[in-house]
Amino acid sequence: MDLGVKDFCITNKPEKFENPRYFQRSLRRLKIRQRRLSRKTKDSNNRKKARVKVAKIHEKVVNQRLGYQQKISLKLTNENQVISCEDLNIKGMVKNPKLAKQISDVAWGKLLTLLEYKGDIYGCEIKRIDRFFPSSKRCSNCGYIKEDLTLKDREWTCPECHAHHDRDINACENLLQFCDGYIEWEASKSTPKEMVEIPCIKTVTP
Ligand SMILES: [Zn+2]
Repeated sequence: MDLGVKDFCITNKPEKFENPRYFQRSLRRLKIRQRRLSRKTKDSNNRKKARVKVAKIHEKVVNQRLGYQQKISLKLTNENQVISCEDLNIKGMVKNPKLAKQISDVAWGKLLTLLEYKGDIYGCEIKRIDRFFPSSKRCSNCGYIKEDLTLKDREWTCPECHAHHDRDINACENLLQFCDGYIEWEASKSTPKEMVEIPCIKTVTP
C-alpha cells in the first residue's frame, strides 16, 4: 500500500481510494462562520452560539474523515493477510508548505493506527517499511533508481528496461517486493524524499 495526496491510498492490486478532502470542502463554510464569529461582541450569548457553529464544522470534518478511514481500514484488513506500507514519521517530517494543508486533510497517520488496530482483530499483519526506502523512484521491474523523479511525475518510463509505470502502483509493487524480501535495502544508500509537516487542526476559540 502506498499513501498519496491525489489518491488517499493505493494498493498493488491495483486499487485506488480517492482523497475526499473533507477539510477543503468545508473551508468556505468555515470562513463564513469564522467571520461572523469575529463580529460578535465579547462575552455575548450570540458569540457563544457563533463559536459552537464554528466548532461543529470542525467536528463534522473530523467525523467524516474518521468514517472514511474506518471503512478503508476495515476493507483492507479483511481482504489481506499482510499489508506493507511506508512508515511515515509524520511528526518528524520536514516542511513543505505547499503540501502541508493537503496532507493534514489526508491524515495518513490515523489510517496506519486504524490498520494496526483492525489488523490485530482480523489477523492481518501490518509491516511498516523504512521511510527512506525509495518506493516511488525505484523501477519495480529492473531496480533502476530514477533520482530525478519529482512529485509531479504521475507516470514515468524506466530508462533502463523501458517499463512504463503509474507512479503509485509502481511504489506499491516496490513495497510489496521489499516486504517479501526480494529487495535488500541499506539505509545509508537512501535519499530522503520530499517530506512535509503535518499541522494539527484545532478548533478555533478566539
Ligand atoms: Zn526498469
